[in-house]
Amino acid sequence: MTSPRPDGPWAEPPAQGEAIKVAEGVLWMRLPLPMKLDHVNVYALDDGDGWTVVDTGMSSNKTRRIWEQLMAGPLGGKPVRRVVVTHHHPDHIGNAGWFQSEHGAELVTTRTAWLFARMLTLDVQESWPEETLAFYRSAGMDPAIYDARVAERPFNFSDTVYPMPLGLTRIKQGDVLRMGGRDWDIHIGNGHAPEHATFWSRDDNLVITGDQILSSISPNIGVYATEPMADPVAEWLEACERLAPLTRADQLALGGHKLPFLGLPHRVAQLIDNHHGALARLLDHLDEPRTAAECFAPLFKRKIGGGEYGLALVEAVAHVNHLYHLGQVDRSRRADGAWLYQRKG
Ligand SMILES: [Zn+2]
Repeated sequence: MTSPRPDGPWAEPPAQGEAIKVAEGVLWMRLPLPMKLDHVNVYALDDGDGWTVVDTGMSSNKTRRIWEQLMAGPLGGKPVRRVVVTHHHPDHIGNAGWFQSEHGAELVTTRTAWLFARMLTLDVQESWPEETLAFYRSAGMDPAIYDARVAERPFNFSDTVYPMPLGLTRIKQGDVLRMGGRDWDIHIGNGHAPEHATFWSRDDNLVITGDQILSSISPNIGVYATEPMADPVAEWLEACERLAPLTRADQLALGGHKLPFLGLPHRVAQLIDNHHGALARLLDHLDEPRTAAECFAPLFKRKIGGGEYGLALVEAVAHVNHLYHLGQVDRSRRADGAWLYQRKG
C-alpha cells in the first residue's frame, strides 16, 4: 500500500478492477506490474458515446482480464474508442495493440513512441545481441549479474507488449486534443522516453504527466545499447525546464505511477534540483577513475537491490554520459572493456 501523502487528495489508489473519479468524466484505475514498481496508473475519459483510455498497462492475460472487468464495471459497458499512449514503455503501451485489434480502438501517440514500440516488438532475440553485452561491459556491470543475465534468455519487448498492428494517429508538440469534454494542449517531454506526450487541460486544472513528472519517485532516465552516447539527462532537464512555466499550484497532476498530486510547480523544481544535486555528488565521486556501475552511491544514496540493478545501471550511464558531454569528465577504457570516468583537472 502507498502511504498517505499530504499533497494529494487521495491517500490510497483504486482497488484492482475499480476506478476513482478524479474529476467529472475522468476515471483513475490501476493495473499490476510484475516488478518492484508494482503498478501503473491508467485513465479513462468520457467522450459521451465512448471512452478514451490513456495508457494501457503491460501486456498479459491478467491485465487484459482486469481491463475486461473495468470495461464491464466502472466503464459501464461503453466502448473504448480511442487509446492515447504517453510513451513507448511496455507498462504504458503494452495493451494498445489489443485495444486496436480486438476492440477497434484508434491509437493516438507520438510518432517516436509508435516507431520505438513497433520496432522493439518486432525485434525478437533468442540470445543476447553482442552490442547489448558490450554495452553492459562498457558500463562495468557486476560480473556475477552479467553472468546470470547471459545465462538467461534476453528480455524481449514482445514478451510484455501485445502485437501492434499498423496504424496510428500522430500527436505532436502544440497539438490540441479533445477528450473527456476538455481541450488538452500537448507538450512533448523527453529524457525518460523520447517524444513523451503530456496533456494540459485548457478547461480546468488537470494535467496528464505520464512518467515525465511523477509524485514520489523520480522518473528513470536511462541509456541503452541502442544509443550508447545518448544524453537523456540533458533532454529530461530541457523538457522539464520548458514545462515548468506551464505549471500552477492548483493543477492536479495525473502521473503514470504513484498517486495524483497537487503542487506541480514545486515538484518539477524539486526533481530538477535533485538531478543537479546528484550530478554534483557524482562529479566529486569521480575524483578517482570509476565505472558507471561504481557510481550508485552518490546517485542513489541507498543500497541498490538485485531487482533494481538494471535500472540503476542505465541511470548511472545516463549521468556519467551527461558529465562527459558537458566536458567535465574524461574517460578511458579499462582492460576488461569498461569505461572509467574521471573528473577533469
Ligand atoms: Zn511507467
